[in-house]
Amino acid sequence: MSEVDVIVGELEARFDDLSYGHVRAWKDAAPGRLAIGCLPVFAPREVLWAAGALPVFVRGAGDRIDTVRGDAFFQSYICHLPRSSLELGLLGHLDALDGMMFPNTCDVIRNLSGIWQDAFPQHFVRFIDPPQTGERASATGYFRAELEDIFHELCTRSGRDPDPAHLAAATADYRVARQAARRLALARLEAPWNLPADEVYLLRRAGDAMPPRDWAALVDRYLAAAAERGRRAEDRIRVCVVGAFCEQPPRALLRAAERAGCYIVDDDLTMQLDADAIEPTGEPDDADPMAALVRAWLAGGRPSAVRYDEAGRAGRALADRVRATGADGVIFAAPSFCDPALLDQPRLTGVLDAAGIPYMAFKYAENTGQFQSIREQAGTFADSVKLWGAA
Ligand code: SF4
Repeated sequence: MSEVDVIVGELEARFDDLSYGHVRAWKDAAPGRLAIGCLPVFAPREVLWAAGALPVFVRGAGDRIDTVRGDAFFQSYICHLPRSSLELGLLGHLDALDGMMFPNTCDVIRNLSGIWQDAFPQHFVRFIDPPQTGERASATGYFRAELEDIFHELCTRSGRDPDPAHLAAATADYRVARQAARRLALARLEAPWNLPADEVYLLRRAGDAMPPRDWAALVDRYLAAAAERGRRAEDRIRVCVVGAFCEQPPRALLRAAERAGCYIVDDDLTMQLDADAIEPTGEPDDADPMAALVRAWLAGGRPSAVRYDEAGRAGRALADRVRATGADGVIFAAPSFCDPALLDQPRLTGVLDAAGIPYMAFKYAENTGQFQSIREQAGTFADSVKLWGAA
């Protein structure tokens, strides 16, 4: 078996472990370690890590469990992620976690945070509401107070001294992870035939629940192994996938889209790990690392449907991204009933229309089992772009 097959096997084992055995093993290796679950799309990972807590992104259960009790908490006309996430908790799969954080991405996540407080009173539960204003002074003060509060509360639980030096070290650790994410993104752009979207996705999902430097080392191991493949480029179009930032599509759907004639060279599937994620990146600032984190959050990151976009730059940013990645078009892939992704599409497609960038759109659920129509749509889109340069 080749090295890359060995790594992919390890990644699949991690992905399939719904109970986060590796997270429990990490916690058991030293006293005081915590693990905090984070719903997509945003979590202040540096702050958690500095407090001795491993951030663990919980992105639903996909098609790997049946949701029964989770369904009972929600109406039928919302997305699937909150149901399966709740089902994971109710079945005990999240027992390795000491708490959960819920970002203010939509009403669904906000409601889930309340349900979680009732269902899991033993958990540290926190709802994070990032600033929704361009007024910098009040946004800075408000968000800093939020992050400080989280930092001190988690330090109390882990028994760690809330020393700013821990924040500086955590910021440095996540900078290493982001540099690895950039190497991965670049390698995919250069030779997507050697880095199938499904594998890159598995690798990024592993980073959802790993210490940042360990993940960076894993990325480099994978890149070295994948480069040995020496596959030849096929006649496929290059696409950016947009809108799948929260509830995740089944892995088989990614494979179906690629086999239909596309190379996915860019996506927002695990936005938190992207090279230009919406997460605060921080700058070297030993005197006040919390200030650096807050500053970076307010100033940087990729525009997205779940982030306040005062300047309305999301459409232009997407067009720029298409050009920068050399993509031939865009696939809008949104979870059914996902208001943020679906309401954002018109302003994005308007810019793409003006720029002459072709696109197609479909919806999915994390437990979708039928891919034939999506495969046909993607195949037709790819052929159209190849034949006429526009769908
Ligand atoms: S998939 Fe969309 S609607 Fe559902 S929880 Fe995520 S952001 Fe909210």
